[in-house]
Amino acid sequence: MTIQELIDQLQEAIKGGYPPETDIRADVFNDDGFYTRDNLLLDASSDYLPIPYLALNVYEDKVWKERYDKLTVHCLKCDDIYRETEPPVEECPNCGNTDKNKTVYLQGER
Ligand SMILES: [Zn+2]
Repeated sequence: MTIQELIDQLQEAIKGGYPPETDIRADVFNDDGFYTRDNLLLDASSDYLPIPYLALNVYEDKVWKERYDKLTVHCLKCDDIYRETEPPVEECPNCGNTDKNKTVYLQGER
């Protein structure tokens, strides 16, 4: 699937009545049938280019919660979102903001 095909399918779904904020889940098929995962994350950083594909990452709830509660930083200066690291990131990789008062950790909704 290409990005354009995905966009087209999502736009069709919205036209079909799904609100834009509808959660997307992944049905994972295996020998026993299938199970459903939510907590999808598209890692679309251009740092990874050139690669021929985009990876859609699916996290178990616990892993997702840890990443989402503690490890995602929202820069209030440029609105970028980036990962916290150990030791912590000292500046926003997008705009170079070093003011910790102008960043927040995103809180999980679940
Ligand atoms: Zn920034």
